[in-house]
Amino acid sequence: MGESSSNSGDLHVAIVGAGIGGLACAIACRRANPPLRVTVFERAPELLTIGAGIHIPPNACRVVTRFGLLEKLKQAGGYEVQDFTLRRYQNGQILVEKPLKGRVEAEYGAQWIGDYQNVLLDEAVLSGAHIMTNAEVTGVQSASDGPQTVLLKDGRSISTDVVIGADGLWSGVREIVLERPFAPAETGDLAYRGTFTRDQLKAFNNERIDKLLEQSNIQVWLGPGKHAVFYPLRNHTEYNLVLIVADDLPSGVRTSQGSLEELAANFEGWDPILSDVISCLKSALKWKLLHFEELDQWTKGVIALLGDASHPTLPYQGQGAAMAVEDGAILGLLLTKLQNAGLPLNQNEKNARLASLFRLYENLRKERTKVNVEGAVHTRHYYHLSDGDEQRNRDRELSELPGKRWKGSCSFNWGDAQYQQSLLGFDVLADAEKKFDEWVAGVQEPVSKSAL
Ligand SMILES: Cc1cc2nc3c(=O)[nH]c(=O)nc-3n(C[C@H](O)[C@H](O)[C@H](O)COP(=O)(O)OP(=O)(O)OC[C@H]3O[C@@H](n4cnc5c(N)ncnc54)[C@H](O)[C@@H]3O)c2cc1C
Repeated sequence: MGESSSNSGDLHVAIVGAGIGGLACAIACRRANPPLRVTVFERAPELLTIGAGIHIPPNACRVVTRFGLLEKLKQAGGYEVQDFTLRRYQNGQILVEKPLKGRVEAEYGAQWIGDYQNVLLDEAVLSGAHIMTNAEVTGVQSASDGPQTVLLKDGRSISTDVVIGADGLWSGVREIVLERPFAPAETGDLAYRGTFTRDQLKAFNNERIDKLLEQSNIQVWLGPGKHAVFYPLRNHTEYNLVLIVADDLPSGVRTSQGSLEELAANFEGWDPILSDVISCLKSALKWKLLHFEELDQWTKGVIALLGDASHPTLPYQGQGAAMAVEDGAILGLLLTKLQNAGLPLNQNEKNARLASLFRLYENLRKERTKVNVEGAVHTRHYYHLSDGDEQRNRDRELSELPGKRWKGSCSFNWGDAQYQQSLLGFDVLADAEKKFDEWVAGVQEPVSKSAL
């Protein structure tokens, strides 16, 4: 796991948090030639599976493909998702089946893959990032005329050039950036999450469950104020069930063990196959779902935030981790290009140049991630419609989408071709390269473009 400093460039990047976003940033920084020096601080005593059950939609798949990881993902059990099926809650009737396999690659330039497993973690380690576990960051001492100092709970301190706060929903680095406490807001929803092995579900000897198991689909049942999501993991050897209901956890309680009776009661009167699947659960964790609309400030000097630290979202567009991967990859790309362009030797000027680069990063990311947070709230509205006119209009619009070959407009973002194109098809790395070149041309002391 050692970091090789002999083949590393000058820039030392400290990343707080070894979640999906922090690891994507670490990989992107290590792909530089020469690689940046990267230290990832993770407070957990060990890194268990990171990214199991988290889908990789085409916008994130484009990034991991650029990292050269698509084949590794498939070898680790990542499969290409076939379809995205929306069903009516009462009887499981298919409202619409959106084809993903083949179509998304043609339309958005990348595939839709099942889950990350530990591929990002393995790659970050292999690439030479130094990952420290049991390393809780408690503060950062900033100096405009010197390096930054990352302070750890156990008293250690580490000197670095930049600090990336990839420390998730309850980010402490966010409070350093904002210089005040800032907690995410309750959304009013909570998620029960449970997993099954294939054998557990097979043992049920239920024809309809068996049929469900053969599909490489994301299945979503839409009902008044609630929805249910079911999909395979690890090449169909495991399955994930996520059930969304109104939040009844006391304020301040983030997770708790859910009661299976209460859970089953929540979905009484829904598609019997869903009740059958729920009855196979041995336990289900309850998660309060939190988000915020927009954070004014993502950076302070040479400290920047990414992922859930800066834009936590309801998970209803399946984009939380994907946006964190985009953030991390862009930060790595920008820092790499700046290092290759040559940084000023004077520490004050170096910090000023890095701070300006981080403002460019913030500008690149804010609008896109805000659109995603709002899109997830919009999706909640359409997923959770009560029976009535609006629900019937939604179902009619959905049923017309295959006839329009998924090309037209739709009131519900999920079916709107333009919305989906900008979410899944936009090449954020190509855009960041272009904006970096414009930024270089505009900075006070222009850097030689031939060096880039
Ligand atoms: C029910 C549910 C379903 C979801 N489904 C999807 C999905 O299908 N697709 C999708 O894209 N997203 C999904 N998400 C969202 C996704 O899980 C998150 O957006 C994503 O994991 C955020 O990654 P991150 O790297 O920003 O933060 P995290 O994964 O939270 O990582 C933060 C890391 O920082 C560490 N840390 C925190 N504080 C410190 C400190 N002081 N010092 C050192 N280390 C620290 C933590 O231990 C952690 O390892 C879902 C979320 C939920 C709740």
